[in-house]
Amino acid sequence: MDLYSGYINKLIAELSILPGIGNKSAQRLAFHIINMPKESVQHLADTMVEARENIRYCRQCCTLTDSDLCPVCADPARNSRVIMVVENTRDLTAYERTHRYEGVYHVLHGAINPTLGIGPNEIRLKELLQRLQHDVDEVIIATNSSIEGETTAMYISKLIKPTGIKVTRIASGVPVGGELEYIDEVTLSRALEARVEL
Ligand code: ZN
Repeated sequence: MDLYSGYINKLIAELSILPGIGNKSAQRLAFHIINMPKESVQHLADTMVEARENIRYCRQCCTLTDSDLCPVCADPARNSRVIMVVENTRDLTAYERTHRYEGVYHVLHGAINPTLGIGPNEIRLKELLQRLQHDVDEVIIATNSSIEGETTAMYISKLIKPTGIKVTRIASGVPVGGELEYIDEVTLSRALEARVEL
């Protein structure tokens, strides 16, 4: 016998798919949604669909954006000869918050993870290599300091080395296994300043 109505169960099941939402949180959210005014629920649903339909990848750096070029790539004041490679758009945002970086980015949308079957072709590496055909002075690898982030950093540096372009890695200060998006701006700025050549 179902404890709840079928509709509630369905809603709980859908919400549990989201990252960080276990069954208990999903139940709490489901009951919250059911108690919200109908218009608010409609607004929430519309916002999700609208975001999914309109957000795309920046033509240049692959970050998620509303337009063809993201605000960083579209800004002529940014130094397009320095490219910082990050795992995702949240990491890009973390670095932007430091206001200390004047170059541009490249967003991989993941990291190499053989156990999950994520190889170099599953992340946006090809696009990065294409960008290196143009004038680039330095590639700063700012992937997370997890095993996957380090594996990805090593892989990228091996690919780029033969081109003669300078390859650097953000310094320690970013704790091992640390996720970039949770690290404060001062630590991030320091890690960037103290980057080492690979
Ligand atoms: Zn961009």
